Amino acid sequence: MAEGDWEGKYNPSDHRTVGPHRAWSNSGEWCYPDMLCSGCRDEWVGTDGAIEVLCEVMHDAYEAAAVKTGWETQERSRAAWADVPEANKETMRAAVVALLERLGLR
Ligand SMILES: [Zn+2]
Repeated sequence: MAEGDWEGKYNPSDHRTVGPHRAWSNSGEWCYPDMLCSGCRDEWVGTDGAIEVLCEVMHDAYEAAAVKTGWETQERSRAAWADVPEANKETMRAAVVALLERLGLR
């Protein structure tokens, strides 16, 4: 293995690197830095950093769906995730965590 070779995001012993761009995982799939294998994705989804990424996805999807369906959201929440009020962020975090717990991913 050379310096900089990708060994998966988690559990390097479950991956066999083929260079800096990807690794073959024991689950029988490729693992890329920007498209994780299912094993790495399952580990990542339980992290606090993942919660923020998933909240942003949910926020953007909710606001976009609201426009499409004619549902009126609060004006102060119609902003980029980074700019929504903290109480809105906490509410979305709780919802995302509940979803992940229901799926057994947290
Ligand atoms: Zn992986």
